[in-house]
Amino acid sequence: MARKFFVGGNWKCNGTTEELKKIVNVLNEGQVPSSDIVEVVVSPPFVYLPLVKSLLRPDFHVAAQNCWVKKGGAFTGEVSAEMLVNLGIPWVIIGHSERRLILNESNEFVGDKVAYALAQGLKVIACVGETLEQREAGSTMDVVAAQTKAIAERVTNWSDVVLAYEPVWAIGTGKVATPAQAQEVHFELRKWLHANTTPEVAETTRIIYGGSVSGSNCKELATKPDVDGFLVGGASLKPEFIDIIKSSE
Ligand code: PEP
Repeated sequence: MARKFFVGGNWKCNGTTEELKKIVNVLNEGQVPSSDIVEVVVSPPFVYLPLVKSLLRPDFHVAAQNCWVKKGGAFTGEVSAEMLVNLGIPWVIIGHSERRLILNESNEFVGDKVAYALAQGLKVIACVGETLEQREAGSTMDVVAAQTKAIAERVTNWSDVVLAYEPVWAIGTGKVATPAQAQEVHFELRKWLHANTTPEVAETTRIIYGGSVSGSNCKELATKPDVDGFLVGGASLKPEFIDIIKSSE
């Protein structure tokens, strides 16, 4: 079964109402391949989710950038998966490196969040990736496998999971992984899924790349057989996001 190309835009902690309306206008006017070819999801900050969802073209969807690990309650400042479902938000990004590293989210905590969000009916973009230090120490696959294992141990239904390989050294740095570097890790991740889940999960789960993807480097990355799309930060706030979506063609 062919894996449908997936392009996510992570807007992080950016934007005002006016700025985000302008970005949505650019997206709404963009000429892109049909939703049979590419699935597009943008992720504004929590407070702008309803606005963006209401203005966005119907063939694009929205994602939250995080959600709480279990049912809501006395957890000041958190947003629960149930609340996202209540607002009709279909997707959530979980385990972004900025949360793993700045907010100390452990592999187990990320795995628990993925499992809980899926159980509530959300679809999940689950992020994994090594730091520069870990890459230079030769432990890229050990790190990425341990992060994926914590998810795989808690998840049986992979049909609503997109795995995002995002090397930390490439995020927001302008230092994109080469197509060969991305392909190598995606291939190994798929092999890991084959050995540790099922051959079907390995074959059908989309593994997308994130880290300084731009309008100029996306085409070459997209030619790699195990690169099933992108998670885009900085460039998703710019008109070149349309070019990145078009790299699915
Ligand atoms: C990200 O934060 O998910 C990301 C990939 O950022 P950037 O594209 O800016 O490197």
